[in-house]
Amino acid sequence: MTMMPNWLKQRAFLTPERVAVSDGKRSKTFAALHEAAAVWARRLARVGVKEGEIVALLMKNRIEMVELVHALFFLGARVLLLNVRLTAYELGWQLDDSGARLVIADNDLAGRLGGDGRVLSVEELAALPEAEVDEKETCDLDDVATIMYTSGTTGAPKGVMQTYGNHWWSAVGSALNLGVQENDCWLAAVPLFHISGLSIVMRSVIYGMPMRLQPSFDPEEANDWIMRGEVTVMSVVAAMLQRLLAVLGDARYPDTFRCMLLGGGPAPRPLLEACKDKGIPVYQTYGMTETASQIVTLAPEYSLTKLGSAGKPLFPAQLRIENDGKTAAPYEAGEIVVKGPNVTKGYWRRPEATAAAIRDGWLYTGDIGYLDEEGFLYVLDRRSDLIISGGENVYPAEIEAVLLSHPDVEEAGVTGIEDETWGQVPCAFVRLKPGAAADEEALRAFCRARLAKYKVPARIYFVNRLPRNAAQKLLRRELKTLIPAEEKPASHP
Ligand code: ATP
Ligand code: MG
Repeated sequence: MTMMPNWLKQRAFLTPERVAVSDGKRSKTFAALHEAAAVWARRLARVGVKEGEIVALLMKNRIEMVELVHALFFLGARVLLLNVRLTAYELGWQLDDSGARLVIADNDLAGRLGGDGRVLSVEELAALPEAEVDEKETCDLDDVATIMYTSGTTGAPKGVMQTYGNHWWSAVGSALNLGVQENDCWLAAVPLFHISGLSIVMRSVIYGMPMRLQPSFDPEEANDWIMRGEVTVMSVVAAMLQRLLAVLGDARYPDTFRCMLLGGGPAPRPLLEACKDKGIPVYQTYGMTETASQIVTLAPEYSLTKLGSAGKPLFPAQLRIENDGKTAAPYEAGEIVVKGPNVTKGYWRRPEATAAAIRDGWLYTGDIGYLDEEGFLYVLDRRSDLIISGGENVYPAEIEAVLLSHPDVEEAGVTGIEDETWGQVPCAFVRLKPGAAADEEALRAFCRARLAKYKVPARIYFVNRLPRNAAQKLLRRELKTLIPAEEKPASHP
């Protein structure tokens, strides 16, 4: 058992006057954040919230959400972070699966859960009288602080347990990599209900660093903040970075901006090259809900020489590639396996899934990748999305990246379809940019010039939208449903 002082309490004691959180209009110091969280804790105590219980938050990025996370930590309750894009059915499923006793929802989201007796709007909570409560002075690093359901890209969602220790080591690992500077301010335009956003809340209180919130991503406003030097670090996924580049135009970010942390999925090469041209310091990262944020990161000085790599593990973490139970040689593809104090102890109430994913303390990520001779990681794809065509491994992400580099293509998804000769062949689904005219043959020719023959999509279908989950990740396993019923896939090229 390793105990630490409660983070917000300690931070408000050490640096009370520093800004903790702002949304561009309102801001709060750590002292004020502490006071606000304490008030929420006393109201939560009034509805009977106790240590060890699960309380869900269904909220957008707002200062109150940060306050409530800390309020629940004061009570020793576990915070279940709910994705605001989920339907009532999906939310209900997670609440039942986790055994949450209460949901605090933004006023405009509370209605989504209809007559669910567990829901309290922020407004309703604010109207409650305060009860006496003993704030917890400490936290045990082994205790579960938060639970987050994985987005379900590859199957039914599972609740990932994140301990205080996981968050602590994640924040420390990130600081040892990026450093912490006096004028730092980290922009959370990614949702706090994902680990990419929540990890910023943890870094803020642990480092004593202000965080800036956007309730939903607004590239113009983010750009203004960066240009004015008010934001020095920002977490993004590729689609957000694309939009930022469009807003930036021919301008350049000032030197105060020191890190664009890019993660969540594969990074298209043209995007990385465009950032390089504009001098944007992109740190590519690889991580997941199970690793409490990034676990592998590539520093910008390598972004050209190691283009497309996700980098090396953070200081507290280890990484290897495993193939058939053996550690793979450099450049040999296999499952990415990670270990470290930021790695989850497992899935909530899923001992079997936990035992399958974590063996000897190593987390089997379900992602495929390889290391180069210097130990830089290259992520290929999710194991479950791998296409095996005529005995060759085909990674949908590689084909998607090529299609996305075509000027007419807005979105692309690739999956394997059955084929008598080859077992499986890749098949692509593309949404064109408005007004674009590329046809199937033009796109296949484009692929032929850039990909080995067996990777060129046997068919390319044009669609209006691609199936994505609530985290906006592509659901490759649902792509097949977009094939017109009367069509039989053509044979391999
Ligand atoms: P589920 O586990 O339910 O399928 P999910 O894995 O999409 O959901 P997250 O934990 O949010 O949920 O996402 C982590 C995954 O995102 C990684 O396992 C990996 O597949 C992908 N990913 C993250 N970073 C990168 C990267 N740099 N390159 C390629 N893929 C990445
Ligand atoms: Mg996952």
